[in-house]
Amino acid sequence: MSVHTHQNRRQFIKRTLATTGTLGLTTASGQMEIRNIDSDALKNLRTRLKGGLILPTDSGYEAARRVYYWNPDTERRPALVARCAHADDVRYAVEFARKYGLEVAVRGGGHSYMGWSTSNGLVIDLAGLNRAEIDPNQRTGRIDAGLSSGEVMRLAGRYGFAPILGQCPAVGPAGLMLGGGLGWLSGLHGAACDNLLSARIVTADGRILTVDAERNPDLLWALRGAGANFGVTTSFECRLHSVGLVTFGDIYYPPKEARPVLRLFRDLMAEAPDSFQATLNLTAGERGVFVRLCHAGERTEAERLLLAFRTVATPARDTVRLGEFAQLAGGVPAGGPGSRSVATVYRDELSDEVMDTVLSRLSQAPAETVIGINHYMHGQVCRVTSDSTAFPLRQSGGIHIQIIVAWRDSAEARRLMLWAEETRRLLRPSSGERIYANYQSHAGKGASEAVFGSNLSRLVDLKNKYDPTNLFRRNSNVEPRPLK
Ligand SMILES: Cc1cc2nc3c(=O)[nH]c(=O)nc-3n(C[C@H](O)[C@H](O)[C@H](O)COP(=O)(O)OP(=O)(O)OC[C@H]3O[C@@H](n4cnc5c(N)ncnc54)[C@H](O)[C@@H]3O)c2cc1C
Repeated sequence: MSVHTHQNRRQFIKRTLATTGTLGLTTASGQMEIRNIDSDALKNLRTRLKGGLILPTDSGYEAARRVYYWNPDTERRPALVARCAHADDVRYAVEFARKYGLEVAVRGGGHSYMGWSTSNGLVIDLAGLNRAEIDPNQRTGRIDAGLSSGEVMRLAGRYGFAPILGQCPAVGPAGLMLGGGLGWLSGLHGAACDNLLSARIVTADGRILTVDAERNPDLLWALRGAGANFGVTTSFECRLHSVGLVTFGDIYYPPKEARPVLRLFRDLMAEAPDSFQATLNLTAGERGVFVRLCHAGERTEAERLLLAFRTVATPARDTVRLGEFAQLAGGVPAGGPGSRSVATVYRDELSDEVMDTVLSRLSQAPAETVIGINHYMHGQVCRVTSDSTAFPLRQSGGIHIQIIVAWRDSAEARRLMLWAEETRRLLRPSSGERIYANYQSHAGKGASEAVFGSNLSRLVDLKNKYDPTNLFRRNSNVEPRPLK
């Protein structure tokens, strides 16, 4: 039911008048307009949306406009937040945005680094699309786009399966998969997008399409890495994998052990089996240095890797244990929307020079900082050729570095964001920079080439075919060629 179904016309007028200024509302002979939107159009939208509509005057508005990385660069004030509970809701919202020229932001899990899932125009919030079905015989899952990765992991886990998703349970599975999707099992089973079988999407012109190997196969290729550009994915079907018990957890060390732990991390990852993945987090604060790891293979192999981590320095704490893969869905604090920012760098190897820069920055780092070294590229994800999907970043040995800052006092925001940005600048390669779409933390000239590499020209052709006016542009954007 629409949030405002019970509201009478008087209340509606009062509420809408109260938004004057924020939305550029005008009144003319009793006719309400929000940026030329008349009250009947708004009322129609409210009535049609099963999930409800939120305006700036609604009590849920402050929560509805926030995203996980909330900072002075990402903050927006949406004119409307359409909560969608059905693919038709998404279609109505898309048509409405197009008709009234509103900037569209599509929100899955709200974890974009650039705050792309909020906007000053219309936010299409998919949280109400929240069903999933597992087919144990086919080993597939049909997943609605509003679920969280953790929910999907837990559901698949009931059947002894694992989806290929990322390392954070709160991230949206569709948002992650549409940008590539690297996770604990990518060495064994590839990126999330390599496991995508089909999807339902709402295109810029309001069509609802099924995308698979037979129907719209060009879109299937594009959804696998550049997907946010081509429409709103309302649900998708993906392969699931059988996993036995896995070895997982965290090993913590005092900050002074950063150098030997970093060296060991590099040496072990360079020859890591496909079944192993680890993330190294370096903090200047009391959390020190910690490795988060997951091994999904032979127990003896896991023991060998663990021994190395347990003896490189005396761990301050060790939570590593054997358990179900789905337990990883509860292993990381979900962390609600907060005040934080991130800057990222992709490097094609963890060289001595990169390690020295990381350690030097860590020695001067504010306590609110984490430098994360994630997703060492190896195994199956690197066996897929760069042009088989739109996600091209497939080189073995590559690493993703993230500089994360968080604050409580808003007066600290700029200082910390500048520190992260300066660290990114020092870590960037001198030429040939690449960017992982899901970790894109800056835009501007050359960014789309850095994200999509030699796949870009094919993507531009598809953008012209499916979204020639660039309605879906709050993403790692593929700009269409200007229309003649
Ligand atoms: C704490 C944390 C941990 C992370 N861990 C990993 C990881 O292990 N591996 C990894 O690969 N990435 C990881 N990421 C990055 C994450 O994959 C991307 O930020 C991803 O885009 C987030 O998707 P979302 O739906 O949560 O975010 P949103 O902000 O809602 O969306 C992100 C982008 O995707 C678009 N989008 C989302 N859903 C849809 C949809 N259904 N249809 C069309 N477009 C859509 C949005 O418009 C936006 O452009 C992590 C991010 C965070 C913050």
